[in-house]
Amino acid sequence: MNYHVLTLFPEMIMDGLNTSIIGRAMNKSLISLEAINIRDFATNKHMKVDDYPYGGGAGMVMQAEPVYLAYKSIEERINKKPRVIYLTPQGKVFNQSMAEDFAKEEDLVFLCGHYEGIDERVLDMIVTDNVSIGDYVLTGGELPAMVMIDSISRLVKGVLNNEDSAEYESFNNNLLEHPQYTRPEVFEGRHVPPVLLTGHHKNIEKWRREESLKRTYERRPELLKDAILDKKDIAYLNQLREADN
Ligand code: SAM
Repeated sequence: MNYHVLTLFPEMIMDGLNTSIIGRAMNKSLISLEAINIRDFATNKHMKVDDYPYGGGAGMVMQAEPVYLAYKSIEERINKKPRVIYLTPQGKVFNQSMAEDFAKEEDLVFLCGHYEGIDERVLDMIVTDNVSIGDYVLTGGELPAMVMIDSISRLVKGVLNNEDSAEYESFNNNLLEHPQYTRPEVFEGRHVPPVLLTGHHKNIEKWRREESLKRTYERRPELLKDAILDKKDIAYLNQLREADN
């Protein structure tokens, strides 16, 4: 997986992703990351990349040409038209199944806006996916790009030490994960659920499944409609619903 980030703040991207699991994945060449400074593609002597909006109004707009030239430099180098994700509050809200879809690509370009955004004409020319990380407005697309790169990278083979750990996490099959505990057995008078200390795998699995269903029911009930549930799951959820009524 090769990430190419078009940004006015390349150091933010490189510094932000160079640690922990993602940093290690880069060191192992499981993923590669480059941040391309859009300003390097300005063609005026002051290296200006923004201007006033036509029609008036607040703020500045990033100009089309430097964005286009920066994108073209990638396209020419990798010799194909990659998916280009424009981070925008006007996009489809990012989720785990989108992360799974993007993780299948070999190259992904992230286009980070700033100020009031980017001239629409270049967006029409190069963007394949408009993606938001939530219904709120940030100052730039760099944090959203980092959020997406982090979550997509976890799905790239070899990035997580334990191949299973992405498979059983929250949002797999639209359920939230069960609670987790580690040593000590008693903390400030609070005990670890006894079943987890029994070593009885079947009972532990049953407890985890029910906790996962309960958590999803309590915190994100809307996810349940797309989850694959068996008869026991449905019976357990009915019990929870009855207890609520
Ligand atoms: N004027 C734009 C609007 O109302 O839709 C907002 C521009 S915002 C201040 C500047 C840049 O931050 C955007 O071009 C985008 O790249 C990024 N951005 C802001 N909020 C975002 C979000 N929720 N998800 C993804 N990108 C976001």
